[in-house]
Amino acid sequence: MKRDPSCIFCRIVAGEIPSRKAYEDDEMLVFHDIAPWAPVHVLMIPKEHLTTFYDVTDAHTAMLGRMMAKAPRLMRELGVTNGFRTLVNTGADGLQEVQHLHIHVMGGPRPWAKG
Ligand code: AMP
Repeated sequence: MKRDPSCIFCRIVAGEIPSRKAYEDDEMLVFHDIAPWAPVHVLMIPKEHLTTFYDVTDAHTAMLGRMMAKAPRLMRELGVTNGFRTLVNTGADGLQEVQHLHIHVMGGPRPWAKG
């Protein structure tokens, strides 16, 4: 599986940097954002290093489908039953700060810190 040793999220996948995990399987990891915008704010990442959404190919569509299908189930498990937002920041104009593809999933009662 492709990995970038200088990537903070690859290092979280490898257990070199701690995270508060919400879900993990062979292909994805979900952990709580360190600076949450909402009462529940998780990041869903493929374990494989993909820098941005632009790097997704046909080989990734099934995995991405499984990630999207996991989001609502996981939010329910985390107690979020009144709706949530999903967001993928991509590239410079998309204000992507961490260069490893991630899906923000945010929910819980408002008001939120932002978003
Ligand atoms: P983005 O602007 O979409 O690249 O968002 C990156 C997100 O990663 C931000 O919401 C950060 O708070 C979050 N983040 C950065 N480092 C960590 C970390 N070590 N553990 C959890 N979340 C992180």
